[in-house]
Amino acid sequence: MKSIIPFFFLFFTILLVGQEHTHRSSRPLTFPDIPGYKSIKTDLHMHTVFSDGNVWPNIRVQEALRDNLDVISLTEHLEYQPHSQDIPHPDRNRSYEIALKEAADYDLLIVHGSEITRSAPMGHNNAVFIDDANPILQEKAADAFTEAKKQGAFVFGIILPGTPKTLMETLFSATFKKNALKMANFMVSRLLTLPITRRNP
Ligand SMILES: [Zn+2]
Repeated sequence: MKSIIPFFFLFFTILLVGQEHTHRSSRPLTFPDIPGYKSIKTDLHMHTVFSDGNVWPNIRVQEALRDNLDVISLTEHLEYQPHSQDIPHPDRNRSYEIALKEAADYDLLIVHGSEITRSAPMGHNNAVFIDDANPILQEKAADAFTEAKKQGAFVFGIILPGTPKTLMETLFSATFKKNALKMANFMVSRLLTLPITRRNP
């Protein structure tokens, strides 16, 4: 019996430490830098209770910190709001704002983004580096993409077959189709404009 007591003590100590508000991880993702380049670990397609996810936005931030990510975007579906009866969502920027606050003291960049979803041609598309999600919530797909383009967004996603070419050209990212370097430069230039509250020396 005596030997069990220290064991329990150790066990509960671990539990208490585990519940501390820490972001230290047992599962950090590491990707090596290619000589001359810096690898950035991102997840630019995430959901929370503000669309069809099942967690509050701060949990996504904590997960990203545990995974050692550098950049995330909570791309809530603008149109698809399955939790809206429980969580009213008049301001589509809410998820981003909560995540931004949660990440304020950490080296994690939060990119403002939204998912523009249509069952008809256009499909599921994420617009990242937006300024304001609310005006992107439009009835017509073309109006939604036009607004995202106006805000300087980068749009990517699944474009369903049958999408008219004219609508495709509305997509900002279509201009990057044959120029990966231009796309990478755009992404980096937008990342550099994000507010950084604290960076490690
Ligand atoms: Zn999605």
